[in-house]
Amino acid sequence: MKNIKLSKKPPDSNNRKKGKPVICYPVNDLQNSNFFIYQEARNHITAKSQTIIPPREARCFDVKAGQFFRIESIDGPQVGDLNLFQADNFNEKFYSGKTRALHGTHLSTGDQMWSCFPYLRPLATITWDTLDWYEFDKDGASVHDVIGTRCDPYTAKLLDDHDYHHCCHSNLIRALVNEKKININQAENLVHDVLNVFMCTGFSKDTHQYFMKASPVRPGDFLEFFAETNLVGVLSACPGGDCSSEHSSDNSTCYPLKVSVLSTSSKHLKGWLPSLTSSYNQKHGLK
Ligand SMILES: [Zn+2]
Repeated sequence: MKNIKLSKKPPDSNNRKKGKPVICYPVNDLQNSNFFIYQEARNHITAKSQTIIPPREARCFDVKAGQFFRIESIDGPQVGDLNLFQADNFNEKFYSGKTRALHGTHLSTGDQMWSCFPYLRPLATITWDTLDWYEFDKDGASVHDVIGTRCDPYTAKLLDDHDYHHCCHSNLIRALVNEKKININQAENLVHDVLNVFMCTGFSKDTHQYFMKASPVRPGDFLEFFAETNLVGVLSACPGGDCSSEHSSDNSTCYPLKVSVLSTSSKHLKGWLPSLTSSYNQKHGLK
């Protein structure tokens, strides 16, 4: 938080702070040529399956490459924590840190969810966001962040010294164990930092700490994705509800979430270029 300063300020400190910000990873060259195909294709999508995520629980869902999936608020304001895996290889999973470095702190239409090394490819592309009007508010907050992690029982234990089993981390683990028959130790390592769907967050202006505020999501709002490869998604309906007050407890009002998988015929995806894993040779300078 940079509250404690033990070092002497150098005489040229002002000069040293004069550097201009340079975007670390300009994404202009990544312009997704498929995006207009998705926008046209989504006019011809039909629902294939639906999954209801009960409050304070998580569920898995399968999406084939070329299908869309939609996460929807149904009964009341509720945020969701999303994990994504490549369906044929769970080692390839969503990389929130690199996605943040590429697309910024909060995602919306046109942004992509990237997979971890050594794969580094888009797992999914966001094709519609009914909350895109929110932009960034006066506190610097916005929705759908990749700056938080996922609520978890370890931090709850650290800060409040209690065992709570319905944090998103545990919900995601139970879903993988119960539905994908993965053992608990493997599942613990597979669960990763999430896309915080519908969650409204930012960094405080004074200490730059992660904060949350009441989500603006309302029933009928949705975030829609195009699957760039075969996917398994796991979504938790966070115990924080709309995250207006607290999480990691049973104190907040929680609602279910709905996931719909939608498909279109291949004729509407003509010209779609599939997502390829990184072509880096992985030698890392070694022979
Ligand atoms: Zn949570």
